[in-house]
Amino acid sequence: MKRMIIGNQAIAYGALAAGVDVAVGYPGTPSSEVLNELFAYSKRNNQAPYVEWSVNEKVAFEIATAAAWTGKRALATMKMSGANVAADSILSVAYSGTKGGLVLYIADDPGAEAGMPEQDTRVFALWAGLPVLETTSPAQAFTMCRFAFELSEDTGLPVILRSVTSVAHAQEVVEADVSYHPRERTPEFERDISRFTKAGSVICLNQHRELLSKLDKAGSIIHRRGINRVVRPGGTLFAVGVGSVNPYLMESLPPEGEISAVYMESSYPLDSLLIGEVLEHAERIVVFEELEPVVEMLIRSEAERKNFKGSIIGKMDGCLPRVGKYTGKEILKGLASLKGEPVCEETDAVELTVKHPITFCAGCPHRGTYMSLNRALKKTKLGKGETIVTGDIGCTILGMNPPFDSCWTEVSMGSSIGLAQGFFRAGVEKPVVATIGDSTFFHAGIPPLINAVQHRADLLLIILDNGWTSMTGFQVNPGTEEQFQRGPAKKVSIDRIVQGIGVDALKVIHPFDQEQAVDVISAALLGEGVRVIIAREECALTRGRRGPWEKIYDIEPGVCAFCKACLRETGCPALLVKSREGKQVMWIAPELCTGCGLCFSCCSFDAISAKRR
Ligand code: SF4
Ligand code: SF4
Repeated sequence: MKRMIIGNQAIAYGALAAGVDVAVGYPGTPSSEVLNELFAYSKRNNQAPYVEWSVNEKVAFEIATAAAWTGKRALATMKMSGANVAADSILSVAYSGTKGGLVLYIADDPGAEAGMPEQDTRVFALWAGLPVLETTSPAQAFTMCRFAFELSEDTGLPVILRSVTSVAHAQEVVEADVSYHPRERTPEFERDISRFTKAGSVICLNQHRELLSKLDKAGSIIHRRGINRVVRPGGTLFAVGVGSVNPYLMESLPPEGEISAVYMESSYPLDSLLIGEVLEHAERIVVFEELEPVVEMLIRSEAERKNFKGSIIGKMDGCLPRVGKYTGKEILKGLASLKGEPVCEETDAVELTVKHPITFCAGCPHRGTYMSLNRALKKTKLGKGETIVTGDIGCTILGMNPPFDSCWTEVSMGSSIGLAQGFFRAGVEKPVVATIGDSTFFHAGIPPLINAVQHRADLLLIILDNGWTSMTGFQVNPGTEEQFQRGPAKKVSIDRIVQGIGVDALKVIHPFDQEQAVDVISAALLGEGVRVIIAREECALTRGRRGPWEKIYDIEPGVCAFCKACLRETGCPALLVKSREGKQVMWIAPELCTGCGLCFSCCSFDAISAKRR
């Protein structure tokens, strides 16, 4: 049946068609929709794979690995930075290999649309020694996902299926078979320490040799299957496109015969047989790939081995950029250079224009937490802008933007707590505040908190607990209320974890109760040792989906002095400026207001009041 789907849905359908038994992951843009789709499928159908949002990518990969070691087919999904978290296990499992198909779906983000480093998974794959299959469109992603499971079983290696934002979120009408074809295998796992442990150098070296020979085998299979191919034979000028750039390349090619086009749908190991043929016939080659010059480097090395006399154009000669995503512009430039037309200009970073700061949604409890933190910094005279506040990954980092201007740093999952300890150890005199969301705390915040307690650091940690992993699409996390967990899953208590670690003080605040929140934060700022505050209130969007708000707020235009204090302090998107009888007044959009009352706490003219919806 034909249907309009995005690339990530296509990956999910490909995994179902391949009979995946276990699908696990950690949410991260642009990869999250794969598991969302598998969850939706499992809700609608009795026969479905086991699907889980794991506590982090490392745990997810380990679950998938063990399932695959029993002969089942398993999928682990994550964004590129998640691979760093799972790296320890991925590199070790690469040595051990797999029995059932083990596919690692990693989505990169050229252009950094989700705001992280432009990390290229192919560099990671070179390091791990794992084959990489590329996606170019939703339709192709569906078939490539199925092939990834086959390749994994045929080689005995985990296979990386790589996507990028422009494919993961691209829409296409696809003839996709949305049905599940489980293989009905009985799970079997035999003890084999030479394969499943690293007990001694002989075992490790043998496993390394084995990995390299499996990688060679992967290269042969990929070549035989025609995954990479000359799609349009032409003259002696060759344009090589890798993965996501291929649709742009096809659109930009000049009339038939002038340039030969080569489609690469796998980037590692290099299809050296195909590239060998290209090198035999080419006078000049241009390589198009987003991010790092991985395939270009491999082609250059093959060219040197074969004593290629022609020229290779790409990133390494400065013609094409290493920064940002590719569009037709880069392709046209590379093709022109291939034809020897204009001289390459310097293309550097893609220019980003930031139109307005991104802020919290109307009714977001994190707004209340940062407001109370700023108010407490004022009350204690420690001063906003003078007290270091480390931020973390997820919605909570929006506290770096106006009007809060709270967070000073954002590094990686859980890093706010480690960085806070570093600032303290460096001798920063004022108290250091770390902020982190609930999901991020579960993911990577617990070890640095243990470290802080063990080494008697002095810091205030605020855990902004909205009960969901909201920024990536409202996935559950271990702290989500049990009624919203899937199946028999149990809620894990942040409070008990924090208490169990042995912090010096723990308090819970409710971010919409500003009086209480400011008092508690003020006392904690002036305290000593490891102090933890849990700011607890559910995400406004998940709460809002369950039914209307009991009350909203309204502004009496005749009373409003238009001092803008409410807007200045909250930055709430429901607060708008309106013209009334020739003068400007503040106005609350009733369809956006959730009745959190934060603006009410800012108005000294009594212009804001609650009303029943
Ligand atoms: S704080 Fe009160 S008086 Fe000032 S703009 Fe807002 S509603 Fe009007
Ligand atoms: S009560 Fe005020 S701050 Fe809260 S959502 Fe409504 S307008 Fe925004």
